[in-house]
Amino acid sequence: MAQLNGLAAFAAATRPRTEGDPLARGMGYKRLRGPDRLSRWPAVFGGRLREARGGLMTMGCVFDIREFTVHDGPGIRTTVFLKGCPLRCNWCHNPEGQSSQPQQMSSPAGTRLVGAAYSPQQLAGLLNRQSVIFLPNEGGVTFSGGEPLMQADFVLEVIARLKPMPILLDTSGCGDERDLRRLLDRVHLVYYDLKLMDEASHLHYTGRSNRLILSNLKIVSGSGVPFVIRVPLVPGVTDTEANFAAIAQAVQGLPGLVRVDLLPYNRAAGAKYHAAGMEFHPEYDETRPVNVNTGVFRESGEEVRLA
Ligand code: SF4
Repeated sequence: MAQLNGLAAFAAATRPRTEGDPLARGMGYKRLRGPDRLSRWPAVFGGRLREARGGLMTMGCVFDIREFTVHDGPGIRTTVFLKGCPLRCNWCHNPEGQSSQPQQMSSPAGTRLVGAAYSPQQLAGLLNRQSVIFLPNEGGVTFSGGEPLMQADFVLEVIARLKPMPILLDTSGCGDERDLRRLLDRVHLVYYDLKLMDEASHLHYTGRSNRLILSNLKIVSGSGVPFVIRVPLVPGVTDTEANFAAIAQAVQGLPGLVRVDLLPYNRAAGAKYHAAGMEFHPEYDETRPVNVNTGVFRESGEEVRLA
């Protein structure tokens, strides 16, 4: 987090948000009229507006909150996993994060509902209480998913209530440009996924073109916020020398680029699908060792790390 500009960055991140945010966009969270707490969870997921005391607020849908993590950014952090993602990566190891709605997951231990509603004040309160642990350990909060851009209004309202602390946005880059710009104005570090540079392959393996992601990458690079490129290593899909070379070429010399992280394939990816009532059909050989040749990135002058 050496790229942080200290308290100035903290102050920028925590200044009051601008007014006029649009109403909820129907992605599993709703803008409610009422006190800044949730009185009836089902109302949020049912998509109805509740009238009560207080002003407008945006409710969020969170499928996990992991405390004391050391892999989701610098220092010791809490990572908030937000529900909803526009991509359907063939290798996704958080399938319960794809749907914007709560869902049941079953295991031998029983059945649980994944996806809890939080008000901005609730989540910020929880994170603020943990700041006594983050700050002495150079950590902070990471907003991940799913895709946090899909709940940009909620994330912004949480950030507006946070004490000064380093904030990391972990994004696939597949989201609304305006939402991305608003979040870039509030965060201190970005983890930005690049999966496949070939558009047809990207469409095939994730269900979406990569055009928006590559376009948003330029916005991140031009924002002044430092960023790390994250490449998931999927055997025979993303770990090819051709894909590495294309990514290296795309990111070479980009302002703000800290380094490239290569993320080893998670062989436990399939386990959650069954629990979530989803099907896992990897279109690649999971048993094949991944290519971890970092040479092409080093040769292009970028720092690269096997995360
Ligand atoms: S971007 Fe991440 S959360 Fe979304 S489908 Fe791909 S791997 Fe899963």
